[in-house]
Amino acid sequence: MKPSAYVVANWKMNKTGAEAQSFVEKSSKLLLNMEKAKVIFCPPFTALFDMGISLEGKPWILGAQNMHWEASGACTGEISSDMLKACRVEFVILGHSERRHNFGEPNNWINQKVLRAISTGLHPIFCVGETLEERQSGKMEDVLHKQISEGLAGVKNSNGMLIAYEPVWAIGTGEHATAEQIEKAHGIVKNYVCESLGDIGKDIPVLYGGSVNPENAGELIKAKSVDGFLVGGASLESESFSEIIKEVETFIKE
Ligand code: PEP
Repeated sequence: MKPSAYVVANWKMNKTGAEAQSFVEKSSKLLLNMEKAKVIFCPPFTALFDMGISLEGKPWILGAQNMHWEASGACTGEISSDMLKACRVEFVILGHSERRHNFGEPNNWINQKVLRAISTGLHPIFCVGETLEERQSGKMEDVLHKQISEGLAGVKNSNGMLIAYEPVWAIGTGEHATAEQIEKAHGIVKNYVCESLGDIGKDIPVLYGGSVNPENAGELIKAKSVDGFLVGGASLESESFSEIIKEVETFIKE
């Protein structure tokens, strides 16, 4: 049993504002009386405002998928922390593997974003994870160390930060990491987070992400080091996402 757990929906580039609103309506019916898991929806930027209104009075939280570290200025196509907060966003995913690998975001950008999020009151969902090639060539620990030490440099106050361990080879592939692989990786992540942040690192929840679905969620949430999930594909349908939340809820103490 766990004192609490998070379930984060990363909708990536899916759903308009209207689609996001109807998802919330449908999920509300499916999840009546399920209020133990901390559920965070991260829709695309264009759906944030509508989603913020839909979530009013619901036990769920709004998150964004990225942000820029500058407060304002000549950053075409970017979005600032204040803009997110104006849409009632509380959490922001930073360093997702698709940003790192497909859009070339280096650790020092992610670090500036983490620092800006914290200083403006947003809670970062800081993502780390190795590629298959890095794992197979024995570089997993080094990669995680670099992502964490550089990504969290200068952080003095975690401000409700969550960490998501997401092995790149498990994201969107249908192949999830085993509970044993997750326990080992989460142990490494936790050690490096404490090395970077000291004692405040101990209490930062570590989520797992990578092909979590209703069939494997019940087994993976049993792993001691798993404080919840970051879910991509299976969060797009309210039925499958609700099933995952139900699995997680059964492992949270009353
Ligand atoms: C993700 O987008 O972070 C993710 C884990 O995706 P999926 O659940 O589809 O693997």
